[in-house]
Amino acid sequence: MPTVIRQQDLIDSVADALQFISYYHPVDFIQAIHKAYEREQNKAAKDAMAQILINSRMCAIGHRPICQDTGIVTVFVTVGMDVQWDADMSLTDMINEGVRRAYNHPDNVLRASILADPDGARKNTGDNTPAVIHYNIVPGNTVDVHVAAKGGGSEAKTKFAMLNPSDSVVDWVLKVVPEMGAGWCPPGMLGIGIGGTAEKAMLLAKEALLDPVDIQELQERGASNRAEALRIELYDKVNRLGIGAQGLGGLTTVVDIKVKDYPTHAANKAIAIIPNCAATRHAHFVLDGSGPACQTPPSIEDYPDITWEVGDSVRRVNLDTVTPEEVQTWKTGETILLSGKMLTGRDAAHKKMTDLLARGESLPVDLKGRFIYYVGPVDPVRDEVVGPAGPTTATRMDKFTRTMLEKTGLLGMIGKSERGPAAIDAIRDHKSVYLMAVGGAAYLVAQAIKSSSVLGFPELGMEAIYEFDVKDMPVTVAVDSRGESVHTTGPQIWKAKIEEGVLEIQ
Ligand code: SF4
Repeated sequence: MPTVIRQQDLIDSVADALQFISYYHPVDFIQAIHKAYEREQNKAAKDAMAQILINSRMCAIGHRPICQDTGIVTVFVTVGMDVQWDADMSLTDMINEGVRRAYNHPDNVLRASILADPDGARKNTGDNTPAVIHYNIVPGNTVDVHVAAKGGGSEAKTKFAMLNPSDSVVDWVLKVVPEMGAGWCPPGMLGIGIGGTAEKAMLLAKEALLDPVDIQELQERGASNRAEALRIELYDKVNRLGIGAQGLGGLTTVVDIKVKDYPTHAANKAIAIIPNCAATRHAHFVLDGSGPACQTPPSIEDYPDITWEVGDSVRRVNLDTVTPEEVQTWKTGETILLSGKMLTGRDAAHKKMTDLLARGESLPVDLKGRFIYYVGPVDPVRDEVVGPAGPTTATRMDKFTRTMLEKTGLLGMIGKSERGPAAIDAIRDHKSVYLMAVGGAAYLVAQAIKSSSVLGFPELGMEAIYEFDVKDMPVTVAVDSRGESVHTTGPQIWKAKIEEGVLEIQ
């Protein structure tokens, strides 16, 4: 007897799973981050993980997104050949309808981040559709679905190579992971696909990220094949790089590494790495004809109850009165609490502003002496001032930085991850500063925002220029006015400490 799967059951199950993963981390991931937090010796990295864990607990209680980037929906569907559909939509349309409902849910609106015409108009589709869907047909009478919401910052750090058959996978991974920087918001997981063809290796890497965190179990029982042996070796060697949480240097860069392989052509050895970030989000369900699938929420006891105090000696800065001279006294690695008014702007706003400047036209906002926060917030619900509003990857704004500092008198920037050499040179030349907030702690960051209004480019939606009034927003000086970058010094120091054997990584 074939199983009959109702269209509505699939739509409801997809929508429910996507809402669920927007505010609940997988429990294995929370536990792995907690272990890493307890073990961490670098205070800055430990503080970052504290914020990630506090944010995670707050999101679970408040049912609001872990990260302002609520991701691109990626779905792996395995359909039994004995399944019959009670549906008038295609399977793809049903899944996209589930995405649409999830992202427009009035109680927990998620950010629509998907742009059609990617090399042209880049127009927001408005409901985060379409999802990226992979199908597999197998014997059986159920529909097995994995949904994930993949952050753009971590997806951007994907690496691929077609190695020579005799090349070392380990050498290649250890070469490219440092090149990935911190834009993927470590600590997280690396999915590695080896073999097949170019696209198969990518798919294996993505699929590998759906597996639970179980590296400690594997270490205990030992490897039974080459993929497992690689996991054990790479987990140790990647953590020995000392990159650490948010790239600040430290003992944990990855909480697990997953490897999947597939037979390949004699002339090829395709390899792909896809990282999963601090906002690791995925869920699984099976439809067997008995109705929609329900996700089981974690218990609040699954979340460590961590407190994070910055201490009385921390520097407090009033953004409404801060001067260039004051900025020059800030040192790399220092924690600062920001209060007062800051502007926001990310990719699209920077492109528009630099285009206006190139044409000699004026900007909608005067940036002189101001700070700009690279963010695309989630829309607010209920009495919120703004939805989750964590930092986006600053590196993408590097190419605009010199122009912005030179032509507008902008004083400083706030974002996440490292700055490249051109941006660091511009920061040093203009005695500016780059501050970082923790990626993956967006709901926590949003609690510091007391008011929000749009000042420019309203047509850009979440990419518009907002003015935020903040109170005690925690940031770290990542590049100071002398051009010293914590993302260079941090990993160097912690790599050396690990090599000296002073510290044990797990
Ligand atoms: S944690 Fe970082 S990489 Fe992940 S979705 Fe959030 S901002 Fe993007």
